Amino acid sequence: MAKRTPLIAGNWKMNKTVQESVETAQALIPLISDVTGREILIAPPFTSLAMVAQTVKGSLINVGAQNIFWEKSGAFTGEIAGNMLVSAGCSYVIIGHSERRQYFGETDETVNKRIKATLSVQLIPLVCIGETEQERESQKTFSVLDTQIVNGLKNFSMDDLCKLVIAYEPVWAIGTGKTATENQVQEVHEYIRKFLTKQYSASVSDTVRILYGGSVKADNIDRIMALPDVDGVLVGGASLDVKGFNRIIHFN
Ligand code: PEP
Repeated sequence: MAKRTPLIAGNWKMNKTVQESVETAQALIPLISDVTGREILIAPPFTSLAMVAQTVKGSLINVGAQNIFWEKSGAFTGEIAGNMLVSAGCSYVIIGHSERRQYFGETDETVNKRIKATLSVQLIPLVCIGETEQERESQKTFSVLDTQIVNGLKNFSMDDLCKLVIAYEPVWAIGTGKTATENQVQEVHEYIRKFLTKQYSASVSDTVRILYGGSVKADNIDRIMALPDVDGVLVGGASLDVKGFNRIIHFN
């Protein structure tokens, strides 16, 4: 089985000015200089990307964007293209976050286009999937995930699929303080892993990292990271605070 390096990712969402972003990154650098065997990612807002990338250069911290547009350039007011993210110093792009699906009309089809655009500039897509509370209650969790995976990951080669990171983020656990139980997390991660084998190949499912996201904090990180099919976490609120995020990065 391929060795998957755990990825600890912080999604800052629409938080922090440029100065606050740089100060947060500067404060984090010395705290994580001892870290081995895990990858660290922070995703500041677009306005802070270039300055944060410059700040963390030479450290163990990678920088990611929270979205990407699929066209290369042109009259698309308000959008950001892949080459711009590369020039700002990004290495990852978060795609299909539930907040984008919920508030900004993101669909599996647009997720698919964004993944394609991300791969075309050699950045790593971090693709978010997850069910709503209502879908879980009506026993639709697995079918919702199947659809999001099949449609979102349509028409990619096995090589490209191996480059992806998937984040399983139950919508009902994001920003709510409700963390999925360890059994729920492991059950879904194992399901996704098997689905990737069935749908694509064993090498895709052995290589793709599956992160958990949803109210991850310093006090639940160790239990979550101990689960066999969890390859890291995508952290929202708790990634804004340097001390708490540092503890998450230093999971046992
Ligand atoms: C997220 O935004 O991806 C997330 C998981 O948020 P939170 O950790 O705040 O629940």
